[in-house]
Amino acid sequence: LEPKEEFEHSSLAVDVMRPRRSDPALAVLTQEGMTVGEVETLVESTHYSGFPVVVSQESQRLVGFVLRRDLLISIDNARKRQEGVVSASQVIFTEHTPAQAPDAPTPLRLRGIMDLSPFTVTDHTPMDITVDIFRKLGLRQCLVTHNGRLLGIITKKDILKHMAQMANRDPDSILFN
Ligand code: ADP
Repeated sequence: LEPKEEFEHSSLAVDVMRPRRSDPALAVLTQEGMTVGEVETLVESTHYSGFPVVVSQESQRLVGFVLRRDLLISIDNARKRQEGVVSASQVIFTEHTPAQAPDAPTPLRLRGIMDLSPFTVTDHTPMDITVDIFRKLGLRQCLVTHNGRLLGIITKKDILKHMAQMANRDPDSILFN
């Protein structure tokens, strides 16, 4: 058996996904309830290329995925061109606009820029299968779930780093840990 391959078979999506236990939580957007200002703050306080959209912080149920670039461009455009869109406007990824206070500012609807079916694997999916999916589908990132709850994200770079780490390991520790 080729040791590297053996390890890849035994590592799981949960071993490679971010965040690690000690990392800050996954940066997610909720499908409603966040303001334009809050979304901008979140996006600008990180360098991530994309953000999962969830039903709510409590449920962590996955709704879609938005790219950082698309978010920033859309918000910028809306602020310039869409009358009434201000920092306090609610950002909405749902199909229908939720009820708002009568004096609430114009909401910003962003469902159009969301990928409605981002690729997901479960936390227990073996990495060799995940790598295969990345290769065959040309993915840039994949989300990781457990019982329908969003747990983390794996990017192409995360996989490449993981493979490089594995290649440097002592074969004994690979086979017997
Ligand atoms: P890349 O891995 O190509 O640098 P990113 O800049 O999107 O892509 O991600 C940098 C790191 O942060 C990766 O390890 C990735 O798993 C993690 N990451 C990506 N998106 C998020 C997010 N929304 N919340 C938390 N971590 C993320």
